[in-house]
Amino acid sequence: MNKTVTDEITLRGISGSPGICIGKAYLVEREGVNLIKRYPVSPEMLPNEINRFKNAVERAKKDHARVIDSLGDDLSENLNILETHKVLFKDKMLYGKTIETITNDQVNAEWALRRVSRRIKRMFDDIDDPYLRARGNDIIQVSDKIMSYLVGESDLRISEINKRVIIVAHDLSPADASQIQLERIKGFLTDRGGKDSHTSIVAKSLKIPSVLGLGNAKANIKNDDILIVDGSAGIIIINPDEDTLFRYQEKMARFEAIRADIERESHLPSITADGVVINLLANIEHVEEVVAAKDNKASGIGLLRTEFLCLDLNRFPTEEEMLQKYGELVELMQPAPVTIRTLDINGDKFNPNIDPVEEANPALGLRAVRFCLEHEDIFITQIRAILRAAAFGNINLLIPMISCVEEIIGVKSCIDKAVLKLEAEDKIFNKDIPLGIMIEVPSAVMMARELAGHVDFFSIGTNDLIQYSMAIDRRNRRVAHLYQALSPAVLKMIRLIVDAATENNIELVMCGEMAGDAINIPVLLGLGLTNLSMNSGAIPVIKKMVRSMNVAKAQKDVQVILGFQTVQEIVDYIQMEYRDLLPYKDNEE
Ligand code: PEP
Ligand code: MG
Repeated sequence: MNKTVTDEITLRGISGSPGICIGKAYLVEREGVNLIKRYPVSPEMLPNEINRFKNAVERAKKDHARVIDSLGDDLSENLNILETHKVLFKDKMLYGKTIETITNDQVNAEWALRRVSRRIKRMFDDIDDPYLRARGNDIIQVSDKIMSYLVGESDLRISEINKRVIIVAHDLSPADASQIQLERIKGFLTDRGGKDSHTSIVAKSLKIPSVLGLGNAKANIKNDDILIVDGSAGIIIINPDEDTLFRYQEKMARFEAIRADIERESHLPSITADGVVINLLANIEHVEEVVAAKDNKASGIGLLRTEFLCLDLNRFPTEEEMLQKYGELVELMQPAPVTIRTLDINGDKFNPNIDPVEEANPALGLRAVRFCLEHEDIFITQIRAILRAAAFGNINLLIPMISCVEEIIGVKSCIDKAVLKLEAEDKIFNKDIPLGIMIEVPSAVMMARELAGHVDFFSIGTNDLIQYSMAIDRRNRRVAHLYQALSPAVLKMIRLIVDAATENNIELVMCGEMAGDAINIPVLLGLGLTNLSMNSGAIPVIKKMVRSMNVAKAQKDVQVILGFQTVQEIVDYIQMEYRDLLPYKDNEE
């Protein structure tokens, strides 16, 4: 066979969701750029508009400098291009002309930038010399980058994509990711983002392969380039040669065959080989996902992230809107339980913009219950809707980000106020529902014994617990190596939580993504967890693992594991003891 000569490039990122796909690249920022609207700017507002443009340039420049800093030696061939781009940010042709156009035409910055960049591009297109002609693309890339800061990521029209493509984006916000239509997308990759960022959670539940945190993949990819996304290994291959394509087609077929086998067994009971029942529940973000949860045989909804309703509406929902959604959900799931979490906003998901203060570290700021306790009216409206929906089915009320006893006392006082109002208004509701808190902040772990006295259940949120205990941003690729569910520190924290829940005789669930990764199951069962909630796509795989496990052995293994000092020792031990049980082992090379 003649070997085709291609410019195959392999880039390593972080596994966002498992699986392999092969397809054509679709760069989403260009889509956003094409949707720029023109609007007039009054003379007195022109300085503001120019400042907006200058700020976008500064932010794009900073971002660009970060990309350059983060490049390892192996990518140094890209460095020249990126250094060229650095100069172009303040290039007279682009920067100067855009400001001139805003002023002279009295138009918005986006429109002015697009007009100027297109003109420059046309000029370069007319040049005969291929090297100089290619510099026109550099201008477009720089202007796209500035544009993305001007228009904001929410302007990407990702939901309108109607081709079976692989999305290539600098970043996908939770709002963008939740709009992706499964049947239209083969997979996606992003330059930013890390394991268990919300984008990866959505990809997992949609069962589409994704690789995140690639650094500067986007700069290497053009629309329609052939891509391989190996979400399991966390790598992408741009323009693969024939041999690579063939190898990956086989690998993809093997993966699909294993997945099909696992799914075929998903109706079997979730019980270990030595007879311990493990409840596998689904984490969902939209009521519509109940279908997938049921298909995957979830025994209930372990977490409804209500903030996604805000994201969809781009505002706070009314009590009636929430009641309608939650009522529908519990009725669909009846008699299985549904855990509804009050808003976890102001972190990485929905930012309501009602607060003029811009926080440097939103994840450490006025997030989730902290925000709700400051805005009692918004909190009480949510509680009212949840208590009213509880009249129609089996609901648990869950509060995110509790970090001290004072907060749970504050929450209970808001619940009392909601109940009094509902009674006064003669509404139908049910106040006798279990109240739980997320344990996802290290201070809550240390206070777990005391907190357990105030609530009916704990739900361990490992996505945040890992980021807060290791002091890393879960979306930041540069510290992704520290994001390890099997870190000894995380395991010791889980043990403290289990002990506190057991001593106080309260229910315990884990709803962080740690519960949805088969390699963690021996430790979790060994530590005594029996309720695991995860993206519904992971349920069949976890069930397969559960059914092959022996809890008595896992308990002994945990004693050994808790004696290790490093993640690697823990992983090696689990691999050694459980290698034959781990699903997808047959697909490893
Ligand atoms: C978690 O932190 O583990 C969790 C389940 O909540 P979220 O991912 O919504 O922050
Ligand atoms: Mg959380």
